[in-house]
Amino acid sequence: MIKVVILGGGYGGIYALRQLVKNHNIKITLVDKNTFHNLQPEVYDLIANKSNIADVTIDLTTLCYGLRHDYLEFKNTRAEDIDFDKQTVHTSEKESIAYDYLIIATGSRTRFPKNLNNLKYTNDLKKLNRALYFKQNFETQLLKKITDEAKKCDNTHIVVVGAGLSGVEITAEMAYNSRKFFKRGKFACEDMKISLVTSGDSILPGFSSKMITASHRRLKSLGINIISNTKLQNTDDDYLYLSNGKKILYSFVIFAGGIESANLTLKLDLEKNHKGQVIVDEYLRIPKYQNIFVVGDAGEFKNIKGETMTENVILAKTTGILAAKNILSLLANKKMQKSNPKFKGTLIALGGKYAVCDIYGIFQIEGFMAYLIKKYVFLRYRWPLLKYIKIGYKIFYNR
Ligand SMILES: Cc1cc2nc3c(=O)[nH]c(=O)nc-3n(C[C@H](O)[C@H](O)[C@H](O)COP(=O)(O)OP(=O)(O)OC[C@H]3O[C@@H](n4cnc5c(N)ncnc54)[C@H](O)[C@@H]3O)c2cc1C
Repeated sequence: MIKVVILGGGYGGIYALRQLVKNHNIKITLVDKNTFHNLQPEVYDLIANKSNIADVTIDLTTLCYGLRHDYLEFKNTRAEDIDFDKQTVHTSEKESIAYDYLIIATGSRTRFPKNLNNLKYTNDLKKLNRALYFKQNFETQLLKKITDEAKKCDNTHIVVVGAGLSGVEITAEMAYNSRKFFKRGKFACEDMKISLVTSGDSILPGFSSKMITASHRRLKSLGINIISNTKLQNTDDDYLYLSNGKKILYSFVIFAGGIESANLTLKLDLEKNHKGQVIVDEYLRIPKYQNIFVVGDAGEFKNIKGETMTENVILAKTTGILAAKNILSLLANKKMQKSNPKFKGTLIALGGKYAVCDIYGIFQIEGFMAYLIKKYVFLRYRWPLLKYIKIGYKIFYNR
């Protein structure tokens, strides 16, 4: 039986899996170092206490049961290396998993500049345990503030470094929530400062000017201090040292300064771009190993104009689906489809029930309506998965 292995059960891996299970005569193995799929774009609701861990994760064991495929197996282990000649994946459990076709969907990680290594283990939103730590840290700051208020009303200064999508979204959510907190409690000491540091001229580099202007306006209305054209150069336990010569006494800092490919792909000897993302051909295959496909944040993808696409859920979805379809086409001796990712829009959550969205670069909406659109889009992703895990849960407990 043909063996297809998927490394990574995130957005790209799961979309690929949902296609592959349509063929009941192949053996599919999903490998993930976590037991769950982390719904990263929904982590803000977790931080803002609007949801809990169960709402921002999909259990991979029950998902695989729910997909009802006789030869589908989930392995909760870390892929450590790939032996391309022997067509085998080596795992942290010292297991070797053989494949005929492989889909690499291991995503990305936050890229920490080498001199900022001390931030690495604390404030990385891509990891669920770190997002939880961050949530607790934020709440501790709020408590500290009101505990100290009778004696002193010190400045609490939270700093977010990096003003891409995740930096902007987390800053807005924190500002919105701290305001709501102080307003609700009528506390005497409200002085909580939130700064957003960006090396660019503006926030959200690469986004349309309308999206930048609308987001900037919202951040300002939430009282956020935006420091542009400035890099974080160094840190110690108390201060952040900026390239504009200033230093900030900080309470805690969150680093959202960009991404790079995950560990596995970083170490593989393949052609990659400056972020360590694997270069693929028009069918999403590694040129040197034509039975290996790369999807989602792990790869670099270009549209037909040759422009590199930004990493996001829609790109992970379209590449995941296409890679799986191409494998199924190869198995059926059919022609594969070429990749042609398209820009479908952007949705940016900006604290509370407020968002801005850009649909196909044609319509821009901001406010509550945009928030509802964003909620709907992400719910539409989750609904079918919730259905599968519900079925899978029943099967699992009736085995
Ligand atoms: C805080 C935050 C907010 C975001 N907001 C948005 C948004 O609003 N809209 C949007 O479109 N995008 C958003 N993104 C980006 C989006 O989440 C990513 O583009 C998307 O998750 C990429 O999907 P993926 O499948 O490539 O990787 P992931 O979803 O990261 O999945 C990778 C999977 O591989 C597993 N893995 C990694 N290495 C190994 C290994 N060696 N062995 C086994 N398993 C491994 C991981 O455990 C993970 O499950 C956000 C990202 C973050 C961090």
